[in-house]
Amino acid sequence: MTRTFHGKQLKIGGAIYTVNEVDGLLRKLSMYGNVDFSDCIIQIDADMSEERKEQTIIHEMLHATHFEAGYSPEEQDEDMINRVANVLHQVIVDNIDILATPDEEEAIEGDPIKKALEELY
Ligand SMILES: [Zn+2]
Repeated sequence: MTRTFHGKQLKIGGAIYTVNEVDGLLRKLSMYGNVDFSDCIIQIDADMSEERKEQTIIHEMLHATHFEAGYSPEEQDEDMINRVANVLHQVIVDNIDILATPDEEEAIEGDPIKKALEELY
């Protein structure tokens, strides 16, 4: 079963964006995703690989980041967003722990079953 992103939220600038996985976005509209700046909704096609969903969320997150920074949709450079989103996705996935606190780091790296057993004995 693939991981779902439906209902996950991203805080971008002063706004909370909610991810909605929808059926048929790619098939009917030839889009992996889109972002509604008014309702703060990021839509992604429900029928994609997890990695493609992540990449699409990062892509739409970049659009929202530009919007919250004051760039209108017309001012946003789709080609630049495409290029940066694909690299940014890799950078985030491969370096997510750099901003973690020591507790979070332990949670990311620790084996929860091993830890629970150590606490028992
Ligand atoms: Zn785009």
